[in-house]
Amino acid sequence: YNSERIRNFSIIAHIDHGKSTLADRLLESTQTVALRDMEEQLLDNMDIERERGITIKLQAARVLYKSKKDGEIYVLNLIDTPGHVDFTYEVSRSLAACEGALLVVDASQGIEAQTLANVYLALENDLEIIPVLNKIDLPAADPDRVAEEIEETIGLDCTDIVHASAKAGIGIDDILESIVQKVPPPQANVDKPFRALIFDSYYDSYRGVIVFFRVVDGQVKKGDKLRFMASAAEHEVTELGVMTPKQVQVENLRAGEVGYICGSIKDVLDARVGDTMVLSKQFKEAKAADAPMKALPGYADSVPMVYCGLFPVDADDYESLRDSLGKLRLNDASLSYEPETSGAMGFGFRCGFLGLLHMEIINERLSREYNLDLIMTAPSVVYKVIHNGVEKTIEAPSKMPDVTRDHETLEPYVKMEILTPSEYNGAIIELGQERRGILIDIKYLTPTRSTIVYELPLGEVITDFFDQLKSRTKGYASMEYKILEYRASDLVRLDVKINYELATALATVVHRDNAQSMGRRLCASLKELIPRQMFKIPIQACIGVKVVASEHISPMRKDVLAKCYGGDISRKKKLLNKQAKGKKKMKSIGKVTVPQEAFMAVLKLD
Ligand code: GDP
Ligand code: MG
Repeated sequence: YNSERIRNFSIIAHIDHGKSTLADRLLESTQTVALRDMEEQLLDNMDIERERGITIKLQAARVLYKSKKDGEIYVLNLIDTPGHVDFTYEVSRSLAACEGALLVVDASQGIEAQTLANVYLALENDLEIIPVLNKIDLPAADPDRVAEEIEETIGLDCTDIVHASAKAGIGIDDILESIVQKVPPPQANVDKPFRALIFDSYYDSYRGVIVFFRVVDGQVKKGDKLRFMASAAEHEVTELGVMTPKQVQVENLRAGEVGYICGSIKDVLDARVGDTMVLSKQFKEAKAADAPMKALPGYADSVPMVYCGLFPVDADDYESLRDSLGKLRLNDASLSYEPETSGAMGFGFRCGFLGLLHMEIINERLSREYNLDLIMTAPSVVYKVIHNGVEKTIEAPSKMPDVTRDHETLEPYVKMEILTPSEYNGAIIELGQERRGILIDIKYLTPTRSTIVYELPLGEVITDFFDQLKSRTKGYASMEYKILEYRASDLVRLDVKINYELATALATVVHRDNAQSMGRRLCASLKELIPRQMFKIPIQACIGVKVVASEHISPMRKDVLAKCYGGDISRKKKLLNKQAKGKKKMKSIGKVTVPQEAFMAVLKLD
């Protein structure tokens, strides 16, 4: 152990710029991973992640590297970060565990929105940023232009920027060497009381929660009793080790080092990302001496921002849905869920997520890993209502009261940064306008690329904003946002009635000025999405008792039945059933069967 020879670093990049490929290359070239052990993209170890090419769970890897310059052996700790906006907090904690970051930029694409967002996070954590131009093997690569872009927009010196190809294995040694030369060693105070930052944790069914951490001060060994500052939980260390990236046990870990512990911890809530671990003994001593130990800065509870309802198609699956959510939550402290009963939908859960991607991942895992057939209602944000000085949090649109002049309604706002070829500035401003955005800034990064900054309601973002942005810019624009605060907005609850039955799962909260047009579009869309039945189905959008828009679905034509020759009633029934149901997931609202797509209608309005 010599802290001067430790380098703790992350790789940051816009999605698809080559972060995972480069991580693999670095591990491979330092031969921590024997080639036969090497799975494609070792660091992304969940199936869904791999399929989607994103990184959700953080992992770390410790490699030994012999510098070609000074011949010394260095310990490099690579801490991987999740690659999506929903997990910004986790990214920021991983970065807080490092002294430096490789900034990977695709030399054929240039800087994108996530590149900038990640750079801001790295700067907030005072990291040394080392830019790397990746994919220089591509014919479309334009390293000089992209290097200039990095110098101008981020202000990093790119005179000796590494030209790399993670895929072709070009520039890998240069990258390793620059980590050793440029990333500062950790400031290690081995003699101080032990403090460590948790940057990840997951639940293992045999060993309980495995906690990944960076030792900031002091040291820890097997058998020590730990205290988790935010949760106030205490656990004994039963296993202590480093990731190579296989878990290998060690005797102790000291300031500056990165490792994992487990200690029959039953709940990830005890050991949350961002929390500080200390030794129980030292914690008590400090308290007794009236000089209480301080947690490391930056802990924040993760607050779900997006909610949706999950209802089993088959009511018998309710218990197994509860069990499955429980299992997922063991690994994911930011997932929340509460039973929800809705007249038409039956028993289900209202679930809270960090963002849309997080929601999709959970939904996908429930159906794939737990074989559950679920109806998911459209996502909505958390609103607030103040009435007679009392503030209420509204997690489901149907729970929004009938607002009067005495109610103040609030919704979360975000700051969004969009990067785009400048020819699409007009199209983006149009989109921003439609979504109640406040234009804050337009800047030209280069003569042909701009950044556009907006403040807008999160509720307008979680509908199809990203899809719209992509389609209006031919896929060239990228975006990132962060939550700002709650702001007053004139909001109302828009109810939907199908065949005069209130469909609470279809209720939405909208700005009063948009309520009527929204109602009209929603009715039109539902008319398309709900299959015809034997009777006429009126569809209405209402604010309170006032109908603001309506449509109807005409009954099925007789000739559907006429196709069955003869009078075989069971055959007729079968045909009708088939028409009504298809192979789709459905729920009945009154007499009307409503398919899954209709519950998402509000996200796909023309
Ligand atoms: P991440 O989203 O940043 O983790 O990106 P990945 O490492 O998953 O890479 C995204 C895609 O780019 C994959 O198809 C990689 O094979 C490809 N890729 C990564 N690095 C290079 C490179 O240096 N050259 C080329 N041509 N392709 C690369
Ligand atoms: Mg990746």
